[in-house]
Amino acid sequence: MGFEDMGINTCRLVWRGHFEAAHCLHGHASCGKVHGHSYDVEVVLVGGVGRDGMVIDFGMLKDVVAQFDHMMLNEILETPTAENLASYIAGDIDRVAHISGRRISTIEVSVREGTYGGKAIIERRVKTEE
Ligand SMILES: [Zn+2]
Repeated sequence: MGFEDMGINTCRLVWRGHFEAAHCLHGHASCGKVHGHSYDVEVVLVGGVGRDGMVIDFGMLKDVVAQFDHMMLNEILETPTAENLASYIAGDIDRVAHISGRRISTIEVSVREGTYGGKAIIERRVKTEE
C-alpha cells in the first residue's frame, strides 16, 4: 500500500552534503597510493511526511555523511569506491530512517569524487511493513 492510500502526503527531498577524506584502492594503477578527495554527496528521498511535517530531519543526513569527514575511508570500507560509498550511505540512511520511524519509500544517493569526473548513483527501494 502506498503512503497516498494511507492519507499521508508524500514529498521528494533533495539534500546535498560534502566531506573531505583519504582513500586508496589496492591494486589500482593510479588510485593504489593513498590520496584524498573532496566528496560531494546528493541524497534524494521519497517518503511520507510525518506529524512533525518532515520526511526526515536533514540533521540525520548530515550526521550520516559526517562520519566520513577527514577519515581514512579504507578503515570504514574495504574498497572505498564512489559506488561502495553511495551504497553504504544509502544503507545507513535506511537504517537511521527505520529506527526513527520515518516512512521512506526510495533512497537515491550519488557520490562524486571531486568537482569533475564521474559520480556513482545508488537507488534503494525501501520495503514498508504497512
Ligand atoms: Zn581516489
